[in-house]
Amino acid sequence: MQPSFPTVTVLDVPFIKTTATQLLETLQQRILTQQNTFVVTANPEIVMYAHHNAAYHQLLQTADYITPDGIGILDGAKILKQPLPERITGFDTLTSLLQWASDQHRSAYFVGAKPEVIAKLKNSLTRDYPGLIIAGMHDGYFTDDTAIIADIKRTQPDMVFAALGFPKQEEFIAQHRHVTNGLWMGVGGSFDVLAGTVDRAPKWWQTHHLEWLYRTLKEPKRLKRIAVIPHYLHLVRQQARRQR
Ligand code: UDP
Repeated sequence: MQPSFPTVTVLDVPFIKTTATQLLETLQQRILTQQNTFVVTANPEIVMYAHHNAAYHQLLQTADYITPDGIGILDGAKILKQPLPERITGFDTLTSLLQWASDQHRSAYFVGAKPEVIAKLKNSLTRDYPGLIIAGMHDGYFTDDTAIIADIKRTQPDMVFAALGFPKQEEFIAQHRHVTNGLWMGVGGSFDVLAGTVDRAPKWWQTHHLEWLYRTLKEPKRLKRIAVIPHYLHLVRQQARRQR
């Protein structure tokens, strides 16, 4: 049995209180013992979306682990006086799992991103993770997922990564995770980064917790995403007052 982590609930979303390393070990164990696992990496935008959308909120409750992806979640936990140790991002969890899979010759299925990104992703994965078994790949612009699900069912990958953006990727996972007993995780725009079509913020921006600013400067249409932060922090302060 794997350890179950304590959680810190920020606006009704329970975040695991652990480190990236501990989570990774747990996920690897679960993959090796073929336990069906649903991981959500959530930022304030996702929390706020769940706050206004009961169906999505309910769907999040079916996840096995919800990780704090985004400095805003760490800030929220601090306001609640229940600090979380560190950010656990979808991108870092994905690359750590791919490295492990490459070393252990484990398999993964990739669903999401634009067709041209998926084509490039195949080359980067083969180059960077030579031991990884690519069970299958499909872009994220499909209207009917029947063939994709049949393919996942047939190939029984150890891991399924869905890069469809939220809420689509979590809806996709919640609906289909029973077809294989592996790890299922939504990874947002990670395929674009892995394929080299979008840059991740340089280290300096990451260590200064300014990745969000870097990405917004590069892609101003993301501004609406960070616009939810003030309202989010306001609601967390209200939660803190209620809990006092
Ligand atoms: N995407 C997709 N299908 C869709 C809509 C989006 O595959 O119907 C992909 C899109 O190409 C991108 C990812 O989902 O690769 C979403 O990335 P975004 O940067 O919006 O997500 P974030 O990392 O901010 O959650």
